[in-house]
Amino acid sequence: MARLKTLKPRLPELGRQVKAHGWAETRRELPDARGYDQKWRRVIRPAILDRDFGLCQNCRRSGKLTAGNIVDHIVSKEVWKRAHDGRLDGCDDPSNLETTCGPCHKAKTGAEAALARREGSPVLGPIR
Ligand SMILES: [Zn+2]
Repeated sequence: MARLKTLKPRLPELGRQVKAHGWAETRRELPDARGYDQKWRRVIRPAILDRDFGLCQNCRRSGKLTAGNIVDHIVSKEVWKRAHDGRLDGCDDPSNLETTCGPCHKAKTGAEAALARREGSPVLGPIR
C-alpha cells in the first residue's frame, strides 16, 4: 500500500491532466459518488485482479498475455442503468467485471463514449 501514499499527492494534478487532455465526461463526479468507494477499492477491485491473475482479459481473448491493472465493467454503468430502470444493482457483480490493460480500456471507453454521443445520451456529452 506504500504506492498509494506516493500517488495520493499527485491525484489533483492527474485530474487536471485529464481535463486538459479532454477525455472526461461532462458531468464527472467524485470517485465515491460514482460508486468507486472503499468497498470497490479494498474488496471488489483486488478480488477481480486476483481472479484474472492481473492479466488483461481482452488481450487474452486474442491470445496475448498483457498485464492489466484496470477493473472494467463489461456492461458499462450507463448502459446497465438504462437496461435496469436506472438502478445499478448487480453492476459490480464479478460476472460483470474483468481486468483490462490501459490501451484496451481506453479503446473500450472511447467506443462507448462515441456510441453515447451518437445516441444523444444526456450523461455523456461532447468532450470539452
Ligand atoms: Zn488489453
